[in-house]
Amino acid sequence: GSIGVWILGDQLHPQQAALASLAASVPERIPVILIESSDWANRRNYHQQKLVLVWSAMRHFAQELQNQGYPVTYVESDGFAEPLQAWAQQHQLQQIRLMQPADLPFRSEVDKLGSQLPCPILQIENNHFLWTSRDFINWAAKRKRLLMEDFYREGRKRFRVLMDGSKPLGGRWNYDRENRKPPKAGIRYPTPLHFLPDALTQAVIHKVKQHYGQHFGSLAGFGWAVTRSQALQVLEHFIKARLPHFGPWQDAMQTGEDFLYHSLLSPYLNLGLLTPHEVVAAAEAAYHQGGIPIASAEGFIRQILGWREYMRGLYEYLMPTGYSQQNFFNHTHPLPDFFWTTDTDLNCLRQTLQQIHRHGYAHHIQRLMILSNFALISGIQPQAVEAWFHDVFIDSYDWVMQTNVIGMGLFADGGMLASKPYAASAQYIHKMSDYCRNCRYNHSEKVGAQACPFNTFYWDFLLRHRPRLASLGRMGLVLAHLERMKPELISQIQAQATAWWEHLQPTSDQQSPSSA
Ligand code: FAD
Repeated sequence: GSIGVWILGDQLHPQQAALASLAASVPERIPVILIESSDWANRRNYHQQKLVLVWSAMRHFAQELQNQGYPVTYVESDGFAEPLQAWAQQHQLQQIRLMQPADLPFRSEVDKLGSQLPCPILQIENNHFLWTSRDFINWAAKRKRLLMEDFYREGRKRFRVLMDGSKPLGGRWNYDRENRKPPKAGIRYPTPLHFLPDALTQAVIHKVKQHYGQHFGSLAGFGWAVTRSQALQVLEHFIKARLPHFGPWQDAMQTGEDFLYHSLLSPYLNLGLLTPHEVVAAAEAAYHQGGIPIASAEGFIRQILGWREYMRGLYEYLMPTGYSQQNFFNHTHPLPDFFWTTDTDLNCLRQTLQQIHRHGYAHHIQRLMILSNFALISGIQPQAVEAWFHDVFIDSYDWVMQTNVIGMGLFADGGMLASKPYAASAQYIHKMSDYCRNCRYNHSEKVGAQACPFNTFYWDFLLRHRPRLASLGRMGLVLAHLERMKPELISQIQAQATAWWEHLQPTSDQQSPSSA
């Protein structure tokens, strides 16, 4: 008997751990299987482009492995058990190797599969991250507070990135003071690379149209990279054309500009088409070659070496404590229909939702300060928000979604990773975007027919949760405004917030299959 490798849809790197563990043997001796499962696709209302991206990338990867000599089995089926059984029997396997799935729900699925197969599954530590889970847990277990900034500095030292001996290059760890500029009219943002679907991708597009045409999102204009070599082109294009300006406009939002200077690398990092190591190394090398301000290079590297690793490490560390079910503010409103239909008269929400419908993509500040901010201050149930995010984004996976939505976006974990909620009124949106200029609501009013709901809900949120927020200790300045607020205004805000929900209640069944 021999050893076979089972490759999941988000493990598409030629040196992924399960393949790498067998590097001593020739490819011809290593049967490989990839399974395109309709059970998986039906589990959620996945964006149609997400289905195309994952399946097309799998089919391309299978073809590459075949060209290298691996005997590849590629199956379209309902679930995983049957094709695995047949494949294990056909090749008389004594063992199946699998890189440990990044997502915990999938890990338990694999555990259940174990007993149905003729041979055991050996899981190999996942190597699509810079930190191993064990190293992160060792780091975290020794600390009182799990600050991202501490973790990031540790990462800079550990992996020797942007270091000058034991000191940070340029003298500071963090250059954000120079970033966070509001949008500026007249900038010509570089057009992202667009990859015309080849025959393999077209076949997947056809399948998705036929069987998943009811899913959220548009398929028109699908242009994501689907191979490692295309993803490397996206990286190169980012380093040349976008990274030099990445820092200053990281937080800006502009109508009609869906990507600004963002890298668009998350779909590829999360599929294994690119490694975090090579992305960080490319940015650092470009900085040393000159022409890229340290604030942009450092700001970008912090996203990958800092945030991405930190969110994944926390997932490993916190999920066993029931993290995904937390609801610190006891928020219970259902998700409004417009999250699916995009039909809302709040211009910032409509622009962002339509953009997600077009591409499955929105940048960080749209996710944080428009979408999850709205969900937080209006009081939508956190698990419904998490499920929606997971459905509609091109780059979503359980490991990245739980801590970003439950923790960072909604503060439903009571502050395990953020020191205070990312709650903001329309003032922030007005400052960082041009959305408010073309909106029927007024960004500076709290109550009345023209008042922006972000204001009404923001103040209502502070009022509703005053004691709880006061106990966090970082909200003093904001809460002090409430002291000076007239009682009539308070009751008007509260009445208007309540009235809003009366007309926001979902009416149709346009819901995710997962929440049905
Ligand atoms: P850039 O702005 O160019 O950033 C570079 C890279 O940094 C990203 O590609 C990503 O790999 C990494 N990164 C930055 N911040 C984070 C973070 N908080 N967590 C993980 N990686 C980060 N990211 C996902 O990959 N998948 C998700 O499903 C996802 N959901 C999110 C939900 C919410 C509510 C929030 C607040 C953030 C979420 N993020 C998610 C993080 C971040 O918004 C996206 O990684 C980023 O917008 C992807 O676009 P980009 O590649 O152009 O990013």
